[in-house]
Amino acid sequence: MLLKSYSEVDCVVSDDPRIGMDADRMPVKVWSLSFKPDQEVGFLFPYLNGALDDALWYERPDHVRFLFEGRRCLLYPDRAAAHFFETRESAVAFIRPLMDFLNSLDARKSEIKPNFNQIRHVKIPEVLKLLPQTNCRECGFPTCMAFAAAVARGKILADQCPGLASPMSESAVYPVFDRQGNLIHSLSLKIDTAGLKRRIKDQDLRIRSLEARLETKARPNPSEPEPVTESAPDSVPETKSESMPDPGSESVAGPAAALTDREIEVLTRIAQGYTNNEIGGLLFISPHTVKSHMINIFNKFGVSDRTQAAVLGVRTGLI
Ligand code: SF4
Repeated sequence: MLLKSYSEVDCVVSDDPRIGMDADRMPVKVWSLSFKPDQEVGFLFPYLNGALDDALWYERPDHVRFLFEGRRCLLYPDRAAAHFFETRESAVAFIRPLMDFLNSLDARKSEIKPNFNQIRHVKIPEVLKLLPQTNCRECGFPTCMAFAAAVARGKILADQCPGLASPMSESAVYPVFDRQGNLIHSLSLKIDTAGLKRRIKDQDLRIRSLEARLETKARPNPSEPEPVTESAPDSVPETKSESMPDPGSESVAGPAAALTDREIEVLTRIAQGYTNNEIGGLLFISPHTVKSHMINIFNKFGVSDRTQAAVLGVRTGLI
């Protein structure tokens, strides 16, 4: 058995309005517990992280947060803590079941797939750089800065921003660029990959529905006679920058022809699903420059998001 005894038990009581109010409308008092197990338990962290869906393993300070028997537990290499007990006695009585649970986890190590994924505390400006910074409030926060602060504190997952850049890999490592577009370092953020995939699927559906609407709009009205013009086939533009929109579709008219070569390059990468930072890295320009190209593209196309821009880019034959 790994853990046999414990020491340095400490119980503190505090008001916690988050739990609720008592009959006298005063914040409910709750007890918190901490104690020192007789063995270091840091080696169990990857197994806790792998065995429990709700476990979160933080890099600094090194600890795992998880729920056990409905209590919020924090396990450090040489100390354990648990919160939200009604009485001191119930807090102390929790020590033994928690140690039993850790002992059983230790005994089952060979059956558990360890998860070495740790949460790194990140700086607010680093998270902010990954966001579209449009303050659109879709995430439920009033500003991108407020959202970035919540992500940096580990209160929410970064992928709650629908415009968050796609990670470089499944392990959710994001590139961070300086103002010149140089890759400074990478940033690890925990993301809900299932949610991300769902959103990508939704976005695909939106693109398809937008394409269908554009096709309907571009289709000639059968009640009108087909214009007979021999030069029609020759009206296909010779160069991309001079390409013309589909006949009958006003929304793709004129301005598309004014896209610069650089804007077409950016638009092509947008359509390929790259993020601003990734496009900056690929084209050796800063993400800020990418953003300004995007704004120009939006203005010229008369659209308000990258999906519509990508669809129009394809429809007009620019990309
Ligand atoms: S959804 Fe994204 S872009 Fe919009 S306010 Fe939130 S963080 Fe900013």
